[in-house]
Amino acid sequence: MKFVGAHVSAAGGVENAPLNAAKLDASAFAFFTKNQRQWNAKPLTEQSISAFKDNCATHGFKPEQILPHDSYLINLGHPEQEPLEKSRAAFIDELQRCEQLGLVYLNFHPGSHLRKISEQECIARIAESINIALQKTKGVTAVIENTAGQGSNMGYRFEQLAAIIEQVDDKTRVGVCLDTCHAFAAGYDLRTIESCEAVFAEFSRVVGFNYLCGMHLNDSKGDYDSHLDRHHSLGQGHIGLDVFRFIMSDQRFSNIPLVLETIDETIWADEIQMLRQFSVQ
Ligand SMILES: [Zn+2]
Ligand SMILES: [Zn+2]
Repeated sequence: MKFVGAHVSAAGGVENAPLNAAKLDASAFAFFTKNQRQWNAKPLTEQSISAFKDNCATHGFKPEQILPHDSYLINLGHPEQEPLEKSRAAFIDELQRCEQLGLVYLNFHPGSHLRKISEQECIARIAESINIALQKTKGVTAVIENTAGQGSNMGYRFEQLAAIIEQVDDKTRVGVCLDTCHAFAAGYDLRTIESCEAVFAEFSRVVGFNYLCGMHLNDSKGDYDSHLDRHHSLGQGHIGLDVFRFIMSDQRFSNIPLVLETIDETIWADEIQMLRQFSVQ
């Protein structure tokens, strides 16, 4: 099965996310469990948690079809101790919110060295942050997203994702989410079926599809290898549609959330329909 959806709004409460996804006729969704631009959030209420679970059940969303995303403020590889501690505490809180909602994944960006420590040191901090967080929680897998390599963001090479996983103690609770826009901007050519075959063979060799827990399906406003994180609607950017045909007809991308983060939410329902038509199943 291909689970396809979009990163939907949870305005007014997390229980609205599955409702917004259902309106798109989606079979997957992503959302923020709290305001992604603020450090602090009120705990989820019992009422909100049970409404979220009810709405997911009503519309047929199982935990493995849902890929919550953490706050953009969190930097698990921060070079300085105090902000690192703050990020770790916030990350644990995010995992606990997922736990409360009965979810199994939390998608996050690995972190940035801010040009104050080496890439290797940053990777070690990120892995240590994940280890600490996994010890304090249960049931939720930490899903590392590849990045465009903008600024000093880590995770733009498959080798970096593999190096983080290598240093995580509990490998049953760490995974990867690949963002097509980020990969393309980081120098992985996804413009043709042949180039997709090569890139995903490389992913298979370096990281392994057993770690793939989700995909972000985005075209790119930025050019190939531009290291710019600028999403575009499918078929309207520099990548084109072949990669989405490839993903939708390849079994290695089945049974994980495939989530649009494209820029025009008014066409999400159409994009989801188009993706389903690419599927050979
Ligand atoms: Zn992301
Ligand atoms: Zn993404």
